Amino acid sequence: MNREGPSLVCACPLCQGTAFDVVMNFVNYVNQYNRVSKDMSQYLAMCVSCGAILRLPLEIKPPAKVSDYGEAYYDGCGEDRLSVLRAHVMEGQLLHYKQLHGILHRLTTPTAHRRWLDVGSAGCPTAFDDFEFTTLEPSIDAVVFGQSHFNKDRVKLGVIDHYADDRPFDGIVFLNSLYCSPTPAQSIAKAAALLRDNGMLVISIGNYFVETVSNTPDGRNGHMEDIWRGATMWVYYNRINLTALCETQGLSLKSEFVENSPIHPHQTIRFWVFEKRPPAKPAGFEGGAAKTRDLLDRLLRSFTAQSQAALVALDQPSVAIVGWWEVIDDFWRVHPLRQIHYVVDARQETLRATYCFNGVPLTSFEELAAGVRSGLIKTVVIAAYSRHDEVTQALSRQFAAHGVNIGALTYLMPIRPSPIGRAFDDFLGEKRLVRLLAFEPLLDHLMPK
Ligand SMILES: [Zn+2]
Repeated sequence: MNREGPSLVCACPLCQGTAFDVVMNFVNYVNQYNRVSKDMSQYLAMCVSCGAILRLPLEIKPPAKVSDYGEAYYDGCGEDRLSVLRAHVMEGQLLHYKQLHGILHRLTTPTAHRRWLDVGSAGCPTAFDDFEFTTLEPSIDAVVFGQSHFNKDRVKLGVIDHYADDRPFDGIVFLNSLYCSPTPAQSIAKAAALLRDNGMLVISIGNYFVETVSNTPDGRNGHMEDIWRGATMWVYYNRINLTALCETQGLSLKSEFVENSPIHPHQTIRFWVFEKRPPAKPAGFEGGAAKTRDLLDRLLRSFTAQSQAALVALDQPSVAIVGWWEVIDDFWRVHPLRQIHYVVDARQETLRATYCFNGVPLTSFEELAAGVRSGLIKTVVIAAYSRHDEVTQALSRQFAAHGVNIGALTYLMPIRPSPIGRAFDDFLGEKRLVRLLAFEPLLDHLMPK
């Protein structure tokens, strides 16, 4: 182990496999909140043995540096880390632990399982007055915050891999935190070592690969950013390899169930309950890779099928497309539009003036205005995933200049803005459609005035 800096590792931390398929370049903080950056030095890669998707290379910190894991969590959250932290704990974690409290009462009693260790929170469950929780968290800021709001003596700094206690625990919880460990085999082995015989391990995860609904604005996996969750997620588990990971450490799966998220209206979260007792026949990693491939194939096929259906529906002579040239180009690659004859580059770049989409030349705003006045064009599709207001403002100016009543048309726009850029990206070695193209009427407040 490198004592000063991180060790960079390219071996699967679940099954120890060393063969991977590169899924795509690692995308850091791309989500519906419009934060995006790509890190070209890291990859999202799938272990071909167990199907875990990992951010490679894994960075394993030496024991003296583990608080860096915690600081990294808040680094992408803007400048005001402490207010982000406060909201994260008081508006997020508190509700998750309230839900956990109810679940624990369904699973057991404070008499049967009194003493618990929680891995990866700022101390919320130490406030329970029945189950007695100690919490572990690698962010110093979060621990200081937790000690001032919850039970000062039982909110501790650290990671489970290096944690020691003089008494065994009756239960251990990883509530939406196991994916933050780049060393899950060690983390789960340590959890097994810290548990008493027949002690309980509870793990929860919510994302596409464990077959739950992500915390998207509309509850559907419409874009790739709905499934990648940012820099603190080292491992995307599936139902097969997570169970195999725990069962190889002497923990038997007792039950598995899905709950609604207490925070996001559409999101669901999967819970696993294990018991410390050797499984009669431990679940293996076989089938894990096929599971992940099937989920990825299904996602990409759904983007393609729904996108083609949407484009067929709008491929009408009465429709004009107005937007960013490169987005229109992407539309055409999913489905060459045969009935549409009005295609306007909102920038009106002279360099693009001679560009044709399968014989359809780019149209000027003046020609579009004439098409509207003649009664032919009734609908405008906004081809933009970002800065769509610039498109609608250009439309507004140009229609005014050419005497067109802007209110006489219907406007459709993509269902959501998205920071991921193009509809296609390199995915498993091919250019694949990585988002759903679907359209809805332009919201009133976005209408050009
Ligand atoms: Zn693996």
